[in-house]
Amino acid sequence: MKTRWNLLCFYGITIFCLLLAVHLGNRAVTVLSENQKPERGHCIIIDPGHGGEDGGAVSVSGRPESQYNLEISLRLKDLLQLLGYETALTRSSDISIYTKGETLAQKKASDLKERVRLTEAAENPLLLSIHQNHFPDSRYSGPQVFYAATENSDLLARNLQEALVASLAPGSNRKAKKSSGIYLMEHISCPAVLIECGFLSHFGEETSLRDPEYQKKLSGVIATAVSGYLSNT
Ligand SMILES: [Zn+2]
Repeated sequence: MKTRWNLLCFYGITIFCLLLAVHLGNRAVTVLSENQKPERGHCIIIDPGHGGEDGGAVSVSGRPESQYNLEISLRLKDLLQLLGYETALTRSSDISIYTKGETLAQKKASDLKERVRLTEAAENPLLLSIHQNHFPDSRYSGPQVFYAATENSDLLARNLQEALVASLAPGSNRKAKKSSGIYLMEHISCPAVLIECGFLSHFGEETSLRDPEYQKKLSGVIATAVSGYLSNT
């Protein structure tokens, strides 16, 4: 009888812990990640595009791109930390990180320079800049990865593009593209990619991009592809 009671207690406590973990959700991931020691050689810089007075594109539901970028980046940071990587964010709240400037254009220029400076200041950095796409024609959808001209960026971008298409946009024929005119990608000296996770101008894709479950899946695909790239280089 006593053994049976002990067994019941054990299962009770286990189920309670599981339910608590599920209930805590992201917080549980954050707590775990804070206790996780970085094991690998790169510092992964996660850069949520835009922020503060620079909201970026506006989605079909009226939300600024900067919000999607931040939500996805925070999830990605937790996942990469859980995998044992050292990570850092260029911003962790809804702010622009400019240091000077009067006009919005000047502040945006300063903000981008600051993102380059923060990345370059890290030891052995690898940059993942998170953005969302937008186009006047609402038919277009699918993730699109751009890469810097720096060593191995193309390889990282191809890994990411293939993984994102296979998991989230089967049938899409988008290929990783070399950056053309993206300031961050053209002023950086480490491996760097800019991930346009999807189109905020596409009704179906925008609904997915603001869904926490889809964001978790998206972050999982990115984290797995980055991890695969790092273990092969
Ligand atoms: Zn953007």
